Amino acid sequence: MDFKTNNTRLKIGEGKVSGYLSIFLGVCSFLFTICMYFPNVLTTSEFRHLYTETFVEVFVFALLILGIGFALTSFVLRKKADIALIGLGFLSATLLLFYLFPLQTSEVSTLFTIGLDWLVLDIFFTSVIFIPLELFLPKRLNQTKFHPEWRTDLAYFIYSHLLVQILGIIIRTPAVISFSGLPIAEIQSKVSAIAFPIQLFLALLITDLFQWTIHFLFHKIPLLWRFHAIHHSIKDIDWLAGSRIHIVDLIVVRSFTFIPIYILGFSNAVFLTYLVWVSIQAVLAHSNTRINFGFLKYILVTPQYHHWHHSADPEYYDKNFAIHFPFIDMIFGTYLDKGDKWPSETGLNETEMPKGIIKQTIQPFKLNKKSNP
Ligand SMILES: [Zn+2]
Ligand SMILES: [Zn+2]
Repeated sequence: MDFKTNNTRLKIGEGKVSGYLSIFLGVCSFLFTICMYFPNVLTTSEFRHLYTETFVEVFVFALLILGIGFALTSFVLRKKADIALIGLGFLSATLLLFYLFPLQTSEVSTLFTIGLDWLVLDIFFTSVIFIPLELFLPKRLNQTKFHPEWRTDLAYFIYSHLLVQILGIIIRTPAVISFSGLPIAEIQSKVSAIAFPIQLFLALLITDLFQWTIHFLFHKIPLLWRFHAIHHSIKDIDWLAGSRIHIVDLIVVRSFTFIPIYILGFSNAVFLTYLVWVSIQAVLAHSNTRINFGFLKYILVTPQYHHWHHSADPEYYDKNFAIHFPFIDMIFGTYLDKGDKWPSETGLNETEMPKGIIKQTIQPFKLNKKSNP
């Protein structure tokens, strides 16, 4: 079996895939170990208490064993150690760090932290699930992870994870300011007393109604579209490309969407489940997979549903705004179901978007751009 990249083909059995996997695991294990030496600065305060010595040792050694296994496989298959040596370099550096310096565990809160641990954990577990899914069950066969803009999408993924703490504070602020002092304690106690599944459904429904509204406005108001156009510039849509969101778009949409989550008093279990659900569904909705979800496509947003939202054909602009429940679009008249069909192309037709995260971040602030979809 082989997978076509933009210029080359990755063939299973050639030793390249295993070589790249050893590099990926080597980099993950190295960065995660670094986090453990500077936990106050490089780990998110929410996760920090999870990093006991046992957890860190088991996780890092699992990465090391897998990484060494892939490096050896690559070496045997390729009969040369070029790629495998890079992987082994990172894996050896991790081992050296482990044996030379004792681990630091800390639960001290610091004012500002970088979410390097969140970046490593999320990219590792998301890759484990979605890369095989897109390799073995792809929708567009000619598209692979190494499409022309994958580095740009990775840059968006990296910065949004590293800045998770500061973004969280900014996103929470509108809800905190606008509702502080309001008599909502009674509502909060009633909401938190509702059974878990109903509470979760309500959380997803209410946030999706808020999300639908602000997302719709980002399409209809030219000033806002300048920012949202960055997300719609994705031509090779996949799980990683879903991260391509302008920072203004990200902050405004999430602030607005999270208002009900912060003020209605959902239980902690519902809040955490909601966060996991949103992360998985957002990644799944963009992934390049042909998995058939059957009747579930009428209940939950699927990749096919959201790919139509990204259609490059003007006939299908402004459809499928929901991110959880398609029936919200049915209610507002923006629902699009083309049966088994998928959009032939995604991306922007009218405006040419510059390449790279820096140029794209500046782009909406430039004057006189033709910008409406
Ligand atoms: Zn949109
Ligand atoms: Zn999208």
